[in-house]
Amino acid sequence: LMGYVGFANLPNQVHRKSVRKGFQFTCMVVGESGLGKSTLINTLFNTTLYPPKEQLPPSAERSKTVAIESIGADIEENGVRLHLTVVDTPGFGDFVNNDDRRTASTGIKIVDNRVHACLYFIQPTGHSLKQIDIEFMRRLHTKVNLIPIIAKADTLTDEEVAEFKQRILADIAHHNIHIFQAPTYDNEDEETLAEAEEIASKIPFAVVGSDKIVATPDGRQVRGRAYPWGVVEVDNEDHCDFVKLRQMLVRTYMEELREYTNDVLYENWRTEKLLSMGV
Ligand code: GDP
Ligand code: MG
Repeated sequence: LMGYVGFANLPNQVHRKSVRKGFQFTCMVVGESGLGKSTLINTLFNTTLYPPKEQLPPSAERSKTVAIESIGADIEENGVRLHLTVVDTPGFGDFVNNDDRRTASTGIKIVDNRVHACLYFIQPTGHSLKQIDIEFMRRLHTKVNLIPIIAKADTLTDEEVAEFKQRILADIAHHNIHIFQAPTYDNEDEETLAEAEEIASKIPFAVVGSDKIVATPDGRQVRGRAYPWGVVEVDNEDHCDFVKLRQMLVRTYMEELREYTNDVLYENWRTEKLLSMGV
């Protein structure tokens, strides 16, 4: 499984259509500084978009993300090419305080670059959404496929995660924020429908990111985070929703995300832009 993204397993039709030209997929991460955005990008695509800390000189830490960075990578799997672009952003708390105008321009930039999905990182407070999250989600939700993520889920217990999810969903509904819904079609087979429902039931995804391989007490080598009480495994569905998030992004819904971005969101943005120009 490791080193394997899974896009070569897309449903046949989509697969055939996309094999020729290769995939283009653009994903953006947004959220406060230190919530594990850069780490999750690494974990998600299992590439070395960022050099692991071990390979840096002992004194060097991975640098803090200080600007909006766009990083591209070509990944090939079973003869299928994926050109992946990841837009990493600094902690938005910083630039909201400093210069509010950058927020507005960020919104435009998102659509210009045709971002297919925006992972919105929520601090694992266990309470409810913060005002700043509500503000940002309200600005983003008409422009991108918004996918809420509970960051660093290993810092909460299973019960806390379950309660936090309910509160987040209630807040999102209360503020009329539209989050991305994985679409389903009438002609889908039962297995595909079940998978879609399973994925939908995990939103907001509670994720754990790690670019380290650790040993479990029973001797397996896994991607995870080690604690005195045990190992939290990134790829174990009993431990977090990372696998489901990846399935939604890269495998099952890549094509839907692309189409929705192109048809609906781009048109929304164009209309808004034309209106604002007085057209
Ligand atoms: P960013 O500022 O949002 O890009 O956050 P980074 O990816 O740079 O991570 C900030 C710190 O949080 C680093 O020390 C990471 O090792 C740590 N971290 C990242 N993901 C997780 C996670 O899922 N759980 C925990 N406990 N720590 C994490
Ligand atoms: Mg970062």
